[in-house]
Amino acid sequence: MNHSARDDGRFGEGTRAVRAGLPEPVKHEPTLPGPVFAAHFHLPGEVTGPYAYGRDDNPTWTLLERAIGELEAPGDDVETLVFSSGMAAISAVLFSQLQSGDAVVLPSDGYQALALVREQLEAYGIEVRTAPTGSDAQLDVLDGAKLLWIESPSNPGLDVCDIRRLAEAARARGALVAVDNTLATPLGQRPLDLGADFAVASGTKQLTGHGDVLLGYVVGRDGEAMAAVRRWRKTVGAISGPMEAWLAHRSLATLQLRVDRQNVTALAVAEALRERPEVTGLRYPGLSDDPSHKIASQQMRRYGSVVSFTLPTRARAERFLEALRLVEDATSFGGVRSTAERRRRWGGDAVSEGFIRLSVGAEDAEDLIADVLRALDESAG
Ligand code: PLP
Repeated sequence: MNHSARDDGRFGEGTRAVRAGLPEPVKHEPTLPGPVFAAHFHLPGEVTGPYAYGRDDNPTWTLLERAIGELEAPGDDVETLVFSSGMAAISAVLFSQLQSGDAVVLPSDGYQALALVREQLEAYGIEVRTAPTGSDAQLDVLDGAKLLWIESPSNPGLDVCDIRRLAEAARARGALVAVDNTLATPLGQRPLDLGADFAVASGTKQLTGHGDVLLGYVVGRDGEAMAAVRRWRKTVGAISGPMEAWLAHRSLATLQLRVDRQNVTALAVAEALRERPEVTGLRYPGLSDDPSHKIASQQMRRYGSVVSFTLPTRARAERFLEALRLVEDATSFGGVRSTAERRRRWGGDAVSEGFIRLSVGAEDAEDLIADVLRALDESAG
């Protein structure tokens, strides 16, 4: 290839994922340059150019950031920053945008570490209001807030809110909007298109998909707001290692393949679980009778790889997890190897003892469904 294949927003999603962030081809150079391991860079004389010190910037991040920006906002002028983890990215937005005396709206049913963030925000004199994801109750607590934090679909309850509607309401009140896009991935949903100021995610999950990398990112359009996020990253030093950034970039090439396959299988698994009498509270936004399906189908292009449901008791859930052969009892989600866990074991989420979060991997659907149904049978006794 000797001509530019730069994405101007017209590529299909698979093409975009495969090519995202690649530099112009250079003879005898690799397609995706290897990780740049550098704490400092040659810097004679004045401080100019991007690469001076490894906590500020790194060429491996630059390519990954370009790639994620292309996926979250194809053809748009956005800034992307990668972080050492999803929590680093979340904290960077919240702590760089909020000051003592400000108010923020957080989900009451979001990722459990938000409770730790809440404590810290309150310790800094920031008022924290909460509302459940699925109810539009955010509207009742939005007046005077500086920032609305949305997690849709929520983890682990898989509720969905109308992002466009909430973003419009927030904008009308002068509030910023950040959306945690971890569960959906940019192929499932594009928060910036729906009116958000920031798309934030843990890249540890489906984005990288192999369960071997911790990563986070923030994408935004507003230069001033993103400059504050960048300053926060530099101040706290919550940076990704070059190896992790490179692994993440390499994994993006298969993002569409993984997401499509895992999402199709997740729906099939959910449909199989729907037939089981011992399963209650089944949630998957892609199920046509899921309470979130209507809104989800308006704003999502794919529904994710996580299914949640409840078994009658803690003991039954533990026996079920123990009986699974193809699904590892492990936390996290979105990886190519299926995982499941009894979420209550962490103590943080307001879910019942038998609540299971099942992350559907890239195994063959028939094998996975057979394993889940067998484990349900075996755990009955
Ligand atoms: N956001 C959501 C929705 C999550 O589920 C998680 C982790 O499970 C995070 C953020 C935090 O990501 P990380 O573990 O990469 O810090």
